[in-house]
Amino acid sequence: MFAPLFFLLAATLPGPQGVDHVVVVSVDGLRSDALVFAGEKSLPNFHRLLSGASTLNSRTDPDAIVTLPNHTGMLTGRLMKGKEGHGWTSNASEIPPEITLHDGPKRHVSGMFEVAFSNGVRTFMAAGKGKFILFPQSWPDALSETHIRSLDSRENLRLFETDLTDSFLAHLDGASGPTLSFLHYPGSDIEGHSKGWKLQKDSAYMKSISGIDLELGRILSAFAERQAAEESCALVLTSDHGGGASHHGHSAKPGLWVNYIIPFAIWRSDGKAEGELYALNPRNRKDPGIRNPASRNGVAPPIRNAEAANVALALLGLPPVPGSTENAAQNLNWLTAPRGN
Ligand SMILES: [Zn+2]
Repeated sequence: MFAPLFFLLAATLPGPQGVDHVVVVSVDGLRSDALVFAGEKSLPNFHRLLSGASTLNSRTDPDAIVTLPNHTGMLTGRLMKGKEGHGWTSNASEIPPEITLHDGPKRHVSGMFEVAFSNGVRTFMAAGKGKFILFPQSWPDALSETHIRSLDSRENLRLFETDLTDSFLAHLDGASGPTLSFLHYPGSDIEGHSKGWKLQKDSAYMKSISGIDLELGRILSAFAERQAAEESCALVLTSDHGGGASHHGHSAKPGLWVNYIIPFAIWRSDGKAEGELYALNPRNRKDPGIRNPASRNGVAPPIRNAEAANVALALLGLPPVPGSTENAAQNLNWLTAPRGN
C-alpha cells in the first residue's frame, strides 16, 4: 500500500542538495572544549567532522540544558519556551505509553521525520536512553523504525554504543532510497554524571568520548563506501548540553558556560560543507562569545542545536518543519560559496 506512493515521491528525490542519506548524531553531554582538550590525534573522527562546516561555539536551548527538551528541539526545529515553542519541559526517565509531544487534537508539534516520511524518505532512530520513546509515540507513522534502549550497567557501555551504531548501519544497508536517521550516544553523559565531566587524560568522561569517536569512525567508513558508489551522505553532529564543570550534575549550575557551549558540525561525504559556521553566515547568525543569548532578542541568533532538523531537511532538499522557528528559512550556509549560487 505504501510502496507505490514511495516510488512516486522518490522519483522527485534527491533534491537540489543532492544528499541521499542524512544522519543527525547527538553526543549526550559533549562540552565543546573536550574536543579541543583531546585534540585531533586522540579524536580523529570528531575532528574530521569538525573539518566540515562547524563551530565549537554553538548553543543549547537558552532555557534548558537537559536532555529531553534539547532533543525535542533538534527534532522539531523549535525552542522549548514561548508560543511557538515545542513546550516539552520534562526530563523524566519514564515516558508513559499514551504521552506525546502534542496537546491532544488542539496542537500538533511536527518534526523532521514527518516531513521526510511524507516525501518518501525512510526514517530511523537509534537512541541510548529509554525516554526517547517519546518521539515514535509522537510520530508513530513517520518514525516506525527505531532502536531505543537503556544501558543496564556502565561496564557494558562500549558494547551498548557499538550496538546502537550497528542498528543504524543495518538500517542504512536495508534502504534502497534516501534516508533520514537520528542517532544518540549516551556514554559521555552517563560517565559525566557518575564520575565528573573531567578534562583529564583517561578520565571516565574522556574515555567515553574516545569510544564514541570509534563509532563515528565506523559511520564515516560506511559513508565513504556509499560515496564511492555515488550515493552522498551527510552527518550533522551536535549535543544536548555540555558538562557541569567539576560538579557531577549539571542542573545545579544551568548558567555556567560549560553547560551551554556545544559543537555543531555539518559534514558531507562529497566535501561540499567546509568552513567556520559563523564566518560562513555573517548576516544571519551572530557568534555569542561566552554569553547565552535569550531566545528572541531582535538580533541574529547564535547557531543552536535546534537548527539540526531544518539543516537535515535542507540537506535532503526538503522544506522546513511546519511551525518550526530555528533555521526555518533554511538559510544556514555550509559552503564558502552560498548555497544555490
Ligand atoms: Zn543529556
